[in-house]
Amino acid sequence: MSYIQFLGAAGTVTGSKHLINSNSDASGANGFQALIDCGLFQGPKEWRLKNWQDPPVPARAIDAVVLTHAHLDHSGWIPRLVAEGYRGQIYATPPTVDLCGILLPDSGYLQEEDAAFHNKTKSSKHDPALPLYTLEQAKAALAQFSPLEFGKALQLGPIGVRFVRSAHILGAAMTEVTLTVNGRQRVCLFTGDIGRVRDNETAPGKIVHSGPTEGESPDVLVMESTYGNRAHPHDDPRPRMAQLIRDTAQRGGSVVVPSFAVERTQKFLFLLHSLMEDGKIPRIPVYADSPMAIEAVKIFIKHSEEFTDETRQLIQRYGSPFHWDGFHFATTVADSKKINDSRYPCIIVSSNGMAMGGRIQHHLLQRLPDPKNLVLFIGFQAEGTRGRQIKDGAPEVKIFGKIVPVRAQVAALEQFSDHADAAELLQWLKTFRKTPEVTYLVHGEPDSAAALQQLIRQQLGWRVEIAKYMQQVELGSSSQK
Ligand SMILES: [Zn+2]
Repeated sequence: MSYIQFLGAAGTVTGSKHLINSNSDASGANGFQALIDCGLFQGPKEWRLKNWQDPPVPARAIDAVVLTHAHLDHSGWIPRLVAEGYRGQIYATPPTVDLCGILLPDSGYLQEEDAAFHNKTKSSKHDPALPLYTLEQAKAALAQFSPLEFGKALQLGPIGVRFVRSAHILGAAMTEVTLTVNGRQRVCLFTGDIGRVRDNETAPGKIVHSGPTEGESPDVLVMESTYGNRAHPHDDPRPRMAQLIRDTAQRGGSVVVPSFAVERTQKFLFLLHSLMEDGKIPRIPVYADSPMAIEAVKIFIKHSEEFTDETRQLIQRYGSPFHWDGFHFATTVADSKKINDSRYPCIIVSSNGMAMGGRIQHHLLQRLPDPKNLVLFIGFQAEGTRGRQIKDGAPEVKIFGKIVPVRAQVAALEQFSDHADAAELLQWLKTFRKTPEVTYLVHGEPDSAAALQQLIRQQLGWRVEIAKYMQQVELGSSSQK
């Protein structure tokens, strides 16, 4: 039999790993086995502990890995898989290969730092605490990456693979898998994460392609459901963003923006630049303070084939962000420290996006106590993070062991999501050329998966199931379990 098994992102939003096994015998050992995504479990401890468990299929028994995009909840377990003996190729689009080249080594570095912290504080029951993988192991895994262009068909043993655009982040793809089951050709579509459906005011500042590829026709759909129970605000954030920045500059304050280094920071810089060009905000210095964000800008510029027309025109007119007047990119720690000396209004964009680590901590330490300043959130702040505390109005927060009073103005713009919301997901499904025989929802908290299941059943009348962790579903038989 041929089957899909959900080894992650089932019942939760992280740890994406879907095994596809073609034509195996009852033991499952003799089929061709491909892993679609190989992500880290993040968030709650019960899930994170699964990063340390062996998958049901030994690493050596896997024949191919196909990666939808570079985010760690889809790619971050690859170094561990390679360390455990996986010797095959990892197929991804060229921008995803490049982005993994910065994200995976950084993840290895953080794993080592975590282990060192636990050893210093004796806060782990393991002695010594070990990293899930090291920086060197992450770098070694990069040698197995193999670029595959969008739209190109690749035959891997009995399965065919093709990437179609998902418009989530630079290089993000859905993976279409074609295989023959009992003499019938079956097409499975794994969506990975799905981006905003249209490039309009609801997804401002979008740099990359303006929507997922329409008109798909899979037999089996495995689809994300992160925002299955939510609607993004659909108004243009630019007027409010401009107002907030203008007011802060007028009272002599600075704007501090915690932002994810990849995608969000680039998007925000483009938006700042166009607001300045239009005379909507004053030309005050902008500091992008994150080495990874700078590497990511280079990758963005290299992959101009991914840009929207609007972005392409912007770069044609004003050159690369590295050459924009008044935009500064801080690479070294000394550069970063120098920003602290700036007493005139400026805008500081730094990571990480939830203020849990990285250089943003220094800027918050400096700027939070002064009511002239503004802290502007442009990303999701998870429960329990420092970003969430500040956003929720905590009077003080702890940074580097110090109690820091929060006197700065705090504001948030919720429009910047890189995921389609429920209405947009439905809008995309309505473009399908035929109804899939079955749709499995993954990559969503139980509530949002359930809400989306309900919505698809009601509005489209499709057969929709919520994937369960470790569940196997048979392909090509009418008796899917
Ligand atoms: Zn993602």
